[in-house]
Amino acid sequence: MKKTFFACLALAIAASVTAAPAATPAAKQSDDPQKAFSFIKNPDGMIQEQARVVFDQARKVLSAHPPSAKPGAERQLALFALDSLLHDTRLDKGPAFTEFMEDLARRVAVALAAKPGVPLRIIRFYNHGFILQTPSVTLAIDIVRGGKRVITGVDEEPFIDLELMRPIVERCDALFVSHPHNDHADLGLARLFLEAGKPVVASPGLWENVSPLIIRPRSADATAPVDFTLALPSLKKPLVVRAYPGHQGKVPNNLYAITTPEGKTILHSGDQTGGGDDLPWLLKIREQLRVDVFLPQCWMARLPLVVEGVAPALVLPGHENEMGHTIDHRESYWQTMRRVQKLSVPVIITAWGEHVDVR
Ligand SMILES: [Zn+2]
Repeated sequence: MKKTFFACLALAIAASVTAAPAATPAAKQSDDPQKAFSFIKNPDGMIQEQARVVFDQARKVLSAHPPSAKPGAERQLALFALDSLLHDTRLDKGPAFTEFMEDLARRVAVALAAKPGVPLRIIRFYNHGFILQTPSVTLAIDIVRGGKRVITGVDEEPFIDLELMRPIVERCDALFVSHPHNDHADLGLARLFLEAGKPVVASPGLWENVSPLIIRPRSADATAPVDFTLALPSLKKPLVVRAYPGHQGKVPNNLYAITTPEGKTILHSGDQTGGGDDLPWLLKIREQLRVDVFLPQCWMARLPLVVEGVAPALVLPGHENEMGHTIDHRESYWQTMRRVQKLSVPVIITAWGEHVDVR
């Protein structure tokens, strides 16, 4: 009995030894990078596949730990993982990043297909782009495909194919653009709105010769806010909007305060710099308007002071990880966390494609 056991063992060892060379073909590099497990002599392939794995895992963790004013350790780590990936210039414009951006467009299109069961849903898009979705209306602010020259449309290099944006545009009723910079204004996208007969509201100096259909509520030298309304087919009463005459440096930058038919007022900062001649009126917004949600750009100078002046019930910062900037000014989520630490108002930091419901 014992002898047979040893014999079997010896046979098994022999079999494993002889089987070893036969196993080599199975370990051969797969042509499909997503099935491969060895990347020797393929460092580019390795870094791209590792990015795919981390992007994917970050998405799963964020889905299990959704936006919160008190994010737990898991959610914070997932946001930091995105910071790391989006500050690694080896990944700029690579396939992992492109797939991540295309997935963003698809996910937002799917999310918009269902009406929210709350008065207001705020969907975060790339950079400082947001989509306000209510049971009666859907409004896009500063949504762009990102990349170079999308503002002019000449030799543009967008991160997202225009066709992937079409289902999003189909589900929006209007587009608001704060100011003429690539990371806020996208001509190809604006044209999709205009072609569909949907209004585009823009700042002075933006696309002046493109279309008479573009609405410009304020002049470049305006110093007082301008109230206006937008008649939209989906609404019985026109939408009520106020455009504040802000600036980024010397460039006119509209801050839109939009009051939804459901009675929520949302203020989007565009790239308001938070200082200069605009500061006095920025600090008095609370006296004129009850703001439910403020969407400031994360690196605004004097952010705590401006938030105090707006006095919103909730702050949702934007503009993290703008991929058109060099990494010193891409602005990470961890930087936003530091900046908002001492705000007395609840703050929710969102990843692209996430949403926050406001009741
Ligand atoms: Zn910007």
